[in-house]
Amino acid sequence: MSILVTGAAGFIGTHLVKNLLLSGEKVIGIDNFDPFYDKKIKLKNLESNTHENFTFIEGDLSNKDDILKALNQEVECVVHLAAKAGVRPSLEAPKDYVKANLDATVTLLETMKEKDIKNFCFASSSSIYGKTKDIPFSEEATFENAISIYATTKQSGELFTQMYHNLYNFNIINLRFFTVYGPGQRPDLAIHKFLKANLLGETINVFGDGSMARDYTFVSDTVEGIVGAVNRLKSNSNLYETYNLGNNTPVKLADLINEIEKVTGKACVKKYQDIPLGDVPITFANIDKAKENLGYNPKVNLEEGLQLMFEWIKKIY
Ligand code: NAD
Repeated sequence: MSILVTGAAGFIGTHLVKNLLLSGEKVIGIDNFDPFYDKKIKLKNLESNTHENFTFIEGDLSNKDDILKALNQEVECVVHLAAKAGVRPSLEAPKDYVKANLDATVTLLETMKEKDIKNFCFASSSSIYGKTKDIPFSEEATFENAISIYATTKQSGELFTQMYHNLYNFNIINLRFFTVYGPGQRPDLAIHKFLKANLLGETINVFGDGSMARDYTFVSDTVEGIVGAVNRLKSNSNLYETYNLGNNTPVKLADLINEIEKVTGKACVKKYQDIPLGDVPITFANIDKAKENLGYNPKVNLEEGLQLMFEWIKKIY
């Protein structure tokens, strides 16, 4: 039996596939090389996972025939990471986000139903908490605060997984990731942009007064949480659960920049700008539930994580 990882050529997908292969799993990956960022990066990601137990399918999840190429094999569990990520670009191209994040998700769930495959782990996002002032964020919160198209597609994704559970007994775990970073991080994200600019002596854009805060999570910790969810899905049936996979330690933008300067030994050149539309003031995860049920226990602190990431940035730029 295999585990199907969608978005397998992306940042988190690459780390997850690596972890699963190392623990002896058979893995099928699917990805359409969405042009959100350079395909060359994704091809390199895939190359790093060359393994006899890994089968890759280039395909689009909005297309049932592409999904069937994966689901016609023996699949025990689907980890659905494929999406158009990114808050700000979602405001520019809302329909592209609806297609990649909702149309694709429903097509995948429908095809799973047809093939009677019911274990489904869905990559949701801290952004769905929006501009709530209730911190730390609890999974039990109600959702009236979304402020981006991206967040709304993830919130809707959770509603769809709930419907497939209610109506067809799908076994579901939604995981809300909190700003994931580490080697291989997407080039549109702040830590990647800041470390690259610091290395090359370029200017960084600092949004707001530096008080915006994010619960940065190192990618190996996120992946441990996903693996915990996969194991829980495999040993249970008919679950409907949702977990925050954050770090329980929000870091202000100004403090992040200080840490980056410490790690690189060089000051950042800063340009202050208004906070863009769609950005939330803070993300802050309560992770008690994930600790208890998934064995989740984030281990990499910001300084260590930035050091590991800077080593990688120096190799690629
Ligand atoms: P990523 O962009 O690196 O990976 C997503 C992959 O999905 C890409 O390789 C893309 O080509 C693929 N994809 C997109 N649409 C597809 C489709 N229709 N069919 C097949 N493949 C498709 O992003 P990531 O940072 O690895 O994020 C993975 C998941 O985690 C996403 O769902 C994202 O929304 C979610 N998430 C990420 C973060 C983060 O900080 N990175 C935070 C919260 C949630």
